Amino acid sequence: MAPSLDVPHLTVFDPVIEQALQERERLIAALREASHARQLRLVYQPKVSLTTGKIVGAEALMRWHHPTLGTVPPLRFIPLAEETGLIADLGHWAIEEALAALVRWHRRCGRLVPVAVNLSPRQLELLRLRGESLDDHVHSLLARHGLPPHCLELELTESSLMQQEETALAELQRLRDLGISLALDDFGTGHSSLARLQQLPVTTLKIDRSLVKGVTGNARHHALLGSVINLGWALSLNVVAEGIETVEEAEILRQLHCPIAQGYYFHRPLPEAEFAALL
Ligand code: C2E
Ligand code: MG
Ligand code: MG
Ligand code: MG
Repeated sequence: MAPSLDVPHLTVFDPVIEQALQERERLIAALREASHARQLRLVYQPKVSLTTGKIVGAEALMRWHHPTLGTVPPLRFIPLAEETGLIADLGHWAIEEALAALVRWHRRCGRLVPVAVNLSPRQLELLRLRGESLDDHVHSLLARHGLPPHCLELELTESSLMQQEETALAELQRLRDLGISLALDDFGTGHSSLARLQQLPVTTLKIDRSLVKGVTGNARHHALLGSVINLGWALSLNVVAEGIETVEEAEILRQLHCPIAQGYYFHRPLPEAEFAALL
């Protein structure tokens, strides 16, 4: 017979928390179905040269349109995909789909436009646990399409890259050795040690919108943005500024010798066909 405990049971029932938990479970269940149900899409945001005005690349961004839940933003579902491990499959699909889109653009417009795909550190970890590696996956995808490696870029956030252990860094280095570009995303929002930055196998700095926003008419902010761009040049990295919303921001970046920019001012993230039409 189980001993009876004298501890009074305290049941805390908070309907708000309860509802949030149920909602979370519902989303997770729906996310498990999402890829089979073809509810996931990639949209492509152009990266624009500030010197020529031409489109020099695209960032692939994931979109989830659920028939009843509506459009769920990535900032909501990517963390859930990471927690549940679904990110391994979603992330793989994103790379595959982005490269397939690149091939279709090439057929249609004759241009090989480099495409960037966001990479979750959890994705690398899961592959490692399965005894697989991203560089093998990427290598075979490129080979299947007959694509040169420089047409693929992987974006990792500054905070996630700085936390990577040596094993993961070795994996990223293998991707670099293949010729894939690696970008440090959201630069300026994490805690980068400059010493570490120099050792990371990255090719590109993506300056976060928070470093660009509010730069007009603020001398200190302007100086800070300029020095981050110069840091990129000094380390021989490509520099891309994110989240450009106004002509003033674009003009300041151009004056500060930022080569490439991306943001609503130029183009919103676009469906594949609209991106092709722009090319
Ligand atoms: P991110 O990689 O830094 O992507 C840039 C985000 O800024 C995108 O939000 C984009 O739509 C938004 N953006 C672009 N231009 C502007 C602008 O001018 N102003 C403002 N305010 N925002 C702008 P989105 O698509 O909602 O994605 C949010 C984040 O979710 C991404 O940030 C990335 O970290 C993550 N994410 C999106 N797709 C994927 C994916 O396929 N895999 C993984 N692992 N993460 C993804
Ligand atoms: Mg990104
Ligand atoms: Mg970013
Ligand atoms: Mg971001």
